[in-house]
Amino acid sequence: MAQRIVVIGGGVGCARFVKGVREHVRRAGLDARIDVVVNTADDWWVSGLRIAPDHDSILYALAGVNDAERGWGRADESERVAAELAVWGTAPDWFTLGDLDLGTHIARTAWLRGGATVSEVYRRLGARWQLGATLHPATDDEIDTHVLLEDGSAIHFQEWWVRHRAQVPAMGFLQHGIALAQPSTGALGALELADIVLFAPSNPVVSIGPILAVPGMREALRGARAPIVGVSGIIGGSAVRGMADACLAAIGVETSAAAVARHYGARGAGGVLDGWLVAEEDEASVSSIRDIGIETRAVPLWMRDDDTSAQLAADALALAADLA
Ligand code: GDP
Ligand code: CA
Repeated sequence: MAQRIVVIGGGVGCARFVKGVREHVRRAGLDARIDVVVNTADDWWVSGLRIAPDHDSILYALAGVNDAERGWGRADESERVAAELAVWGTAPDWFTLGDLDLGTHIARTAWLRGGATVSEVYRRLGARWQLGATLHPATDDEIDTHVLLEDGSAIHFQEWWVRHRAQVPAMGFLQHGIALAQPSTGALGALELADIVLFAPSNPVVSIGPILAVPGMREALRGARAPIVGVSGIIGGSAVRGMADACLAAIGVETSAAAVARHYGARGAGGVLDGWLVAEEDEASVSSIRDIGIETRAVPLWMRDDDTSAQLAADALALAADLA
């Protein structure tokens, strides 16, 4: 029977990692099935359209149609519609959507308006390409993240992230409606049947955090028979290719691989991790993380290309196999 690998994560960091898992599976000739539980808390409504940045980053990367240089959106993109929207004043001037990308958002919005669930929209979008992985929303319910500011007001996560580049101090993050949200059946099914669960090196606060905050998700993870191994997105005390440090600061967690591991916690002590991969630069923290009950190894953590991403995936799967 095919080995079932489940990856949990957000956008770009998760996309690179899942590509690595897929590449490792291919190279090693493994009989494996890859499911991805995707963060939906970055989603928002803009210009009347439902945007799902994390899902689309993974979709486009796995399909090979992403703009690798820019780091987001579609390759060979144009912005004719965005220019029109700017003239009409119906889109914020700090959030530009490309024409091809808008095609995705229009299709998604049309399906949602027609009554489709987010899970069903994922299925329809994914069916266009040979992704080599099945994507599931963490939840079908709307749980858009809002950022609490010092003056007591709250703005949508995208405004804080894209417009303010996470430079306005955040006092915390909240997802309206999350208390009533439920994990999607696809996510729960994947976790139940998983042989291995991997946390991508995604933003611990605004990508993995909201997934874990969906009521029932922690329990599903803690009850999974599969070993759970996480990969640190923090290398040598800094968030690579991202602004995770601003998010960690807002919730009072230091920007270090060890602090993030403590934040997730050992499954044996009420947390969600059995294993943790840190960068070679962070070798010195390995024993302190082991001490709290998380088996930890130091390996190369930079995903530069297919080779380095596939090797990272291989290291994560090897640790999981040793824990199983
Ligand atoms: P986003 O939703 O597009 O911000 O993407 P994610 O939440 O999935 O991942 C963003 C995080 O990925 C960043 O904050 C980094 O910590 C991490 N990251 C990005 N590139 C790398 C890499 O090459 N190696 C590792 N270990 N982490 C990375
Ligand atoms: Ca994201």
